[in-house]
Amino acid sequence: MQTSRIPGFYNMTVEQRRELLAKMESFTEEDTAYLFSKEALSTDTADNMIENVVGTFPLPLGLGLNFLINDKDFVVPMAIEEPSVVASASHIAKIVRNAGGFTTEATDRVMIGQIQVVGCQDFYIAKEAILHEKDNLINAVNAAYPSLVNRGGGAEDLDVRILNEEPGSKYSQMLVLHIYINTCDAMGANIINTMVESLAPTVEELTGGKVYLRILSNYPDRCLARARCVIPTDLLGSEEFSGEEVRDGVIHAYEFAASDPYRAVTHNKGIMNGIDPVVIATGNDWRAVEAGAHAHAARNGRYTSMTEWSKDDEGNLIGELELPMSVGTVGGSIRVHPISSIAHKLLNVDSAQELAQVIVAVGLAQNLGALKALATDGIQKGHMALHSRSVAIAAGATGEMIDVISQRLIQENEIRVGKAKELVEEYKK
Ligand code: NDP
Repeated sequence: MQTSRIPGFYNMTVEQRRELLAKMESFTEEDTAYLFSKEALSTDTADNMIENVVGTFPLPLGLGLNFLINDKDFVVPMAIEEPSVVASASHIAKIVRNAGGFTTEATDRVMIGQIQVVGCQDFYIAKEAILHEKDNLINAVNAAYPSLVNRGGGAEDLDVRILNEEPGSKYSQMLVLHIYINTCDAMGANIINTMVESLAPTVEELTGGKVYLRILSNYPDRCLARARCVIPTDLLGSEEFSGEEVRDGVIHAYEFAASDPYRAVTHNKGIMNGIDPVVIATGNDWRAVEAGAHAHAARNGRYTSMTEWSKDDEGNLIGELELPMSVGTVGGSIRVHPISSIAHKLLNVDSAQELAQVIVAVGLAQNLGALKALATDGIQKGHMALHSRSVAIAAGATGEMIDVISQRLIQENEIRVGKAKELVEEYKK
């Protein structure tokens, strides 16, 4: 697929969309078979992925369209059960595309491995002993994963903190090593755990303490991705609202989230509505991304908005999002799950760094979609209309009945399961 602008994709049937996908150069017959089969993830593969398997749990896979990021087009696979997310992301991506697209950047993919040491006789001497051997420790930890170093990654820095120094602290005093490891295109959890575990005996020898935990941190604040968009107000208006009204509404909505944790949680959930589906579709660990994102939102000591919205001197709306983004294009279950392999083909990113940038751009788009709706029509108008089909199915509608019932629910402005059940009974008579 050369472009992510596919006018009318929304109105095509699933079959028509699949025909379009099957024409993609990189798409093999096997990909098509997997994506379109009823058992895309076989029970055998699933049984090799986790424990106590009894089946699989499919999710709808949709395509976020119109994404122009750093002048490159991306078709974004999104796995999610919630209606309106994919539509909203694509709608905002089209607006941003008309404003020149998203600009994004990412730091090097430097993750953190932590080693906890307790029981040192003198924590300050222990800290000095570690720092004195810093280069040797970095070399030693790299020796535990030579293939990563050969790829241009590996440990590149180390620091040490003493926790609970103050007398009378409720918790034990401890030394914590942070080893900064470039994991290249892998998320790197297993790689890091292997590396830091290998260092434990040397650390015990140097510090005279006992090592307990040796594991990555899910707050990789040196592995950040940033997205930005600049939107002129003439692209924001509608029949009912001027572009300036929409812009100001979005900024006020942001200021609410920036000032109030109760609102910030919901605001940020909306951002993760865009992020998680891409993380899931690409076979990445969404719990890790969620945990890191919320930690970043609280990095200044108070939980706040992940995004920032403002206006520039010309009155354009400016949106920015920075998040830690521990995702990979290899490793974990990425190449094990057949659909995530296909999702990577669709997305066509060159590296984990580029994947991280696409993900934050989708998060920023999703946030604007929610804020724009909230600051104008309210979220229910669009959302409930799209939700009406799920409500019809929940009430027992099948086949052609689903469309009929969902349309009636919208017309009668009563999108709830009780009403849908009445309509289903009526339809069956
Ligand atoms: P893997 O253990 O699969 O390691 C990555 C693999 O990718 C390595 O075997 C490496 O090969 C290979 N590889 C190929 N090309 C590259 C490249 N360009 N860059 C980097 N590696 C490459 O996965 P991760 O270490 O990424 O760990 C991710 C998994 O760990 C996820 O499933 C996650 O859920 C899980 N996990 C998460 C935890 C957490 O978040 N707290 C804790 C523990 C696990 P080679 O060996 O040849 O170098």
